[in-house]
Amino acid sequence: MKTALITGASRGIGRATALLLAQQGYQIAVNFHQRESAAAEVVSLIHQQGGKAFSVQADIADEEQVVEMFRVLDQRGALLSALVNNAGILFQQTRVEQLSAERINRVFATNVTGTFLCCREAVKRMSFQHGGQGGVIVNVSSAAARSGSPHEYVDYAASKGAVDTLTKGLSLEVAAQGIRVNGVRPGFIYTDMHADGGEADRVNRLAPTIPMQRGGEPEEIAQAILWLLSDAASYITGTIIDAAGGR
Ligand code: NAD
Repeated sequence: MKTALITGASRGIGRATALLLAQQGYQIAVNFHQRESAAAEVVSLIHQQGGKAFSVQADIADEEQVVEMFRVLDQRGALLSALVNNAGILFQQTRVEQLSAERINRVFATNVTGTFLCCREAVKRMSFQHGGQGGVIVNVSSAAARSGSPHEYVDYAASKGAVDTLTKGLSLEVAAQGIRVNGVRPGFIYTDMHADGGEADRVNRLAPTIPMQRGGEPEEIAQAILWLLSDAASYITGTIIDAAGGR
């Protein structure tokens, strides 16, 4: 059975992706950092729908924990065919002149280093060179990589720019090794992440600036991820899909 590891899957886009991929027959490894009961709820929802899933704890910013997470998958005999690097963080809206090195480093440790580490461990298992059977990686970036998120979180936007560059570079490194690597850049999506930035209602405030005149739903991003993972996208690598209502 094909296994998909989704980082940060206890809520938001990760949760929606876990539920959708499970319906398509993937066994889901639901990674969570701190919200153990929310991750357990995702697993039990999948079980109720007749799917397969288990949860696995790891702070993706911590190299040892990432290595251990993949070891847990190995021990379960999971054939890792898909990795969705969804976990990401941002902090209170502010301006660059207010940013501390500590905050910038925290954002990059999760969004960039964490994504790199998960890619590294996945490639070691998927690559023909390492005896693997190939696989697909989708990195969840952000439209912020294009806009720069001025007056809000340029640190976060810059981290997503790095994710896009990782997507491009890694896709070329492993293209001949049976691995496709693509990205999705969501726009303004209704999740709890905006509350972490100090503005729970941010999507509604910005909706009139979106050509489609509305925010997006996590399920709409999950559909783009599902398509990139699927054989329908078998000739697509190094590509980043904007899912941002035209913004
Ligand atoms: P969210 O905050 O609900 O989900 C992010 C998840 O990542 C959470 O479950 C969180 O616990 C997890 N996470 C954070 N740090 C982690 C760590 N160190 N280790 C493991 N897990 C960790 O927000 P979301 O909107 O669902 O975001 C999902 C992804 O989509 C993120 O990468 C985010 O940057 C991206 N994104 C979101 C939007 C939006 O408008 N919501 C827009 C563009 C991009």
